[in-house]
Amino acid sequence: MFGIERTTLTEYLIAHRRAHPGSTGEFNALILQVAQACKAISRIVAHGALGGALGTLESENVQGETQKKLDVIADEIFLRATHWGGDLAGMVSEENADPIPLPQGHARGKYLLVFDPLDGSSNIDVNVSVGSIFSVLRAPKPHEDAQTGDFLQPGNRQVAAGYAIYGPSTMLVLTVGSGVVGFTLDPILGDFFLTHPDIRVPPTTREFAINASNARFWEAPVRRYVDECLAGRSGPREADFNMRWIASLVAETHRILTRGGVFLYPRDTRAPDKPGRLRLLYECNPIGMLVEQAGGRASTGRLPLLEVHPDALHQRIGFVFGSCEEVERIERYHDEPTEAPPDSDMPLFNRRSLFLDD
Ligand code: MN
Ligand code: MN
Repeated sequence: MFGIERTTLTEYLIAHRRAHPGSTGEFNALILQVAQACKAISRIVAHGALGGALGTLESENVQGETQKKLDVIADEIFLRATHWGGDLAGMVSEENADPIPLPQGHARGKYLLVFDPLDGSSNIDVNVSVGSIFSVLRAPKPHEDAQTGDFLQPGNRQVAAGYAIYGPSTMLVLTVGSGVVGFTLDPILGDFFLTHPDIRVPPTTREFAINASNARFWEAPVRRYVDECLAGRSGPREADFNMRWIASLVAETHRILTRGGVFLYPRDTRAPDKPGRLRLLYECNPIGMLVEQAGGRASTGRLPLLEVHPDALHQRIGFVFGSCEEVERIERYHDEPTEAPPDSDMPLFNRRSLFLDD
């Protein structure tokens, strides 16, 4: 029970490498460096106010969001843990407008690392779970400094993706392209141990997650979907649904990977220049790969998310993911012609007559 008989992250990666003779030690080293960064961030998060790392800075990040102290600390931890190893040709983070230059005097490797060092950071001061998200891509030009265009690869080219969740326990959830596994941090030993060897998203669910305060901006297919869930047993779905909203992508993902569900942060009509809220490269793509590797589905609402060709590092996109049946239903609603104009300002709970008959 104290970990001796359990598989560590290192053992898992070595076993995986043995099973794939073409794979390299550099890849394993990179994942272990990322895990090291997550352990360091976990320790700071766990110390909360005692560590002096809570609170907000004056500065804004590249997307005009106020930075929390911990956003910046987590970014530096990620950088320092990974940039010297010689396995990277470049890195991109939520907190930096451009690719982060690698230090001089170190070799350039064949991978790209893209990350959100602290996801859900608005939750940090209220002691709700936060996380880190990462994605590993192949560098189109290995052993050279990567340029912006090198990172603009669709999600289906990711070599690996994962997140750490800093909750009641710290976990690392990882895919290297053959299913999804979860490791739990033993904070005394300082190692991640394999505790969830085969994470699967149940195909059906009666639980959805959406920020309902945006209801007035939703497009008709999303309104229809939510209205039908809210109508419960007496509605067209003939079932009662639960709603959840943690406002922390990692925490929502972790719940859905654990017990199913569907998450929507759809494209809406609020700001036409921002089609969606979440960022494609370091939020949606890695979560999308994990969800699909676990047998769920990741979508823009209309199209498979992992097929989208990015056109900017910090591009935002509508994101719907989770249990297959619900995501497919939402995609179907987007395909079907709807009676309501997309800019309709009819209130959310007042539309049943429009939609219940079709
Ligand atoms: Mn985030
Ligand atoms: Mn963040």
